[in-house]
Amino acid sequence: MSSTTVSFEFFPPKTPAGQEKLLTVRDQLAAVSPEFFSVTYGAGGSTQDGTLNTVLALRETGIDTAPHLSCIGASRSELKTLLQNYKDKGIRRLVALRGDLPSGMGMGGELRYANELVAFIRQEFGDDFILEVAAYPESHPQAANLDVDIKNFVRKCQAGADSAITQYFFNADAYFYFVDRVRAAGVEIPIIPGIMPITNYSKLARFSDACGAEIPRWIRKQLEAYGDDTDSICQFGEEVISRLCQQLLEGGAPGLHFYTLNQAGASLAVVRNLGK
Ligand code: FAD
Repeated sequence: MSSTTVSFEFFPPKTPAGQEKLLTVRDQLAAVSPEFFSVTYGAGGSTQDGTLNTVLALRETGIDTAPHLSCIGASRSELKTLLQNYKDKGIRRLVALRGDLPSGMGMGGELRYANELVAFIRQEFGDDFILEVAAYPESHPQAANLDVDIKNFVRKCQAGADSAITQYFFNADAYFYFVDRVRAAGVEIPIIPGIMPITNYSKLARFSDACGAEIPRWIRKQLEAYGDDTDSICQFGEEVISRLCQQLLEGGAPGLHFYTLNQAGASLAVVRNLGK
C-alpha cells in the first residue's frame, strides 16, 4: 500500500506557540509526501489572513497547499478579490464550501450554496483552480434526508468540482453506499474519505454532535471507559482508524484526507500502519 495518496488538513494557529508548532508538524507530515495540504477558513472570512499566511507557511515545503473558502456572508466582489489574490500568489487548488455563520447571523452573502460558489469560480476563473468540495456520507446535518443531500451534492459536481472530500465517519458502509449512489447519479470525480484520528473523547464527541458524524456505540463505550487514560485512548484510536482506512482503501477509496487538528502523531501512526 506504499502508493496510498494522502492529504492533511490544518487550521490557522491562533498563538505564537501554535504557529511555531505548525512548522514542526508540517515538516513531520511533509515527510510522507502527501498530495496536498489544506487550511480551513473561518465563518464569514474571520480567518482570511490566518488562512493565507498558513497556506504560505505550509507551501514552503514544496507541497501543493489549498485554502478552504466559504461563500456564506460574502459578496461576489469580495470573493472575486480574494480569489484573484490567491491566483496571484500561485495558489492552484481550493476547497470550495458554503460554510456556516454563527447562529443568529442568518445566511447573508450573495451565494447561498456551494454549487453556486463552484459555478461562480468557474465563470470568473475558468480552470485556473482545482476545486475540491465537501461530501457527507452520513448526510449533512441540515439536509432533510440523504436523497435530498445527494441531489445537492450532484449539483456541486455538475457545477465543476474536480474532487470531493468527505466529512469524517466511522462506518465504512456509509461511505461505500454514498459512493454507489452518486456514481449511479453520474458523478465520476474522486471521493476522498475524510479521516478523523481519535485522541480525545470529549472533543471528538463535541465535534461529532456539531457536524452530524455518528460515533458507533462500541467505540463510544470503549472511549468512555478509558476516562482520562490518554495512552489507551490513542492506542485504541490508532487501531480503530487504521482498520477503517484499510477497509476503505481495499473497497476502492482513492486516497485519505486526514483532519490533523495541527497534530502529527495520530495521523502519521495510521499512515505508517498502512505501509506508506
Ligand atoms: P453545501 O454543499 O452548500 O450544502 C449545505 C446544505 O445545503 C446541505 O444540507 C445541502 O443538502 C443543502 N444544499 C446544497 N445545495 C443546495 C441547493 N442548491 N439548494 C438547496 N439546498 C442545497 N467549515 C468552515 O467554516 N470552514 C472550513 O474550512 C471547512 N472545511 C470543511 C472541509 C470539509 C472537507 C468538510 C466536509 C466540511 C468543512 N466545513 C468547513 C464545514 C462546512 O462548511 C459545513 O458543513 C457547511 O454547513 C456546509 O458547507 P458545504 O460546502 O458542504 O455546503
